Amino acid sequence: LHHRVPLPETHDEVHRLALTLNEMLEELDQAFMRQQRFVADASHELRTPVAAIRSLTDVALLKSLTNEKQIAEKYISTLSNINTEAQRLGSLISDLLLLARVDEGETALQQEAVHLDMLINAVLINAQPLAMERNITIKKQITTSVIVPGNEGRLIQMMMNLVDNAIKYTHPGGYVTLQLTEEAHEACLRVIDTGIGIPAEHLPHIFERFYRVDPAHSSQGGSSGLGLAIVKWIVYAHDGSISAESEPGSGSTFTVRLPMTESRPDSPLPSMEKP
Ligand code: ADP
Repeated sequence: LHHRVPLPETHDEVHRLALTLNEMLEELDQAFMRQQRFVADASHELRTPVAAIRSLTDVALLKSLTNEKQIAEKYISTLSNINTEAQRLGSLISDLLLLARVDEGETALQQEAVHLDMLINAVLINAQPLAMERNITIKKQITTSVIVPGNEGRLIQMMMNLVDNAIKYTHPGGYVTLQLTEEAHEACLRVIDTGIGIPAEHLPHIFERFYRVDPAHSSQGGSSGLGLAIVKWIVYAHDGSISAESEPGSGSTFTVRLPMTESRPDSPLPSMEKP
């Protein structure tokens, strides 16, 4: 890390210059430390699924040495576990790559007219298999037909991350509601769950990279703590805002607000290009 410039005795321009320089060095150091922390956290997260894959393949190899006859059956569960871990690794790596590109400033988004009611339907269909597996009912409440300028793929990814969380952190038998309303000339998307909730002291941190309320529990379920950091970036890249409210034991609500172009689909669309 950088040494600070010694401050001169005088209280003139040179003194102020030295102070400014030291402030800049401080910022540089902090950025450097954030980067170091990111690399350290990322490496740690990558090690977990790789270690799992290695031990699963060790088990498979041992089985093949000890019991040749029933190899096929014994392999099936091991192979399916390896597959799960490899998928987890793959999505972790794409999340890390995306955030690294965001840091580089290399992430201009293609803009198009996105119909949010259709987007909600797409998200609902995508989320259905996980919801059924976990016995969660997904409901939708759409009170308006809103079009926003945005990147459909990224907006779907953003909603999927929120809905995946809502399903993951809700007990079987619970409900997840996808809501679309128009409030104060903004499109308002809400993901409401009846799940475990988030204690107040954790709420301000959940959008930080790698932050997890319960690291021990989440790492078994294949969560990386990157989902909400990506959600936040996507919302900000659309000039929107996001907030979370939660009542531990009764559920959480995530609200995304996006600037809109049109609320009536029959009106002509303004240009979707960003200036
Ligand atoms: P993860 O991959 O761990 O889910 P996220 O960045 O998506 O990472 O979320 C960060 C943390 O916020 C989670 O580990 C979890 O503790 C908490 N969290 C996120 N969404 C919810 C929710 N709907 N209900 C309860 N806790 C949640």
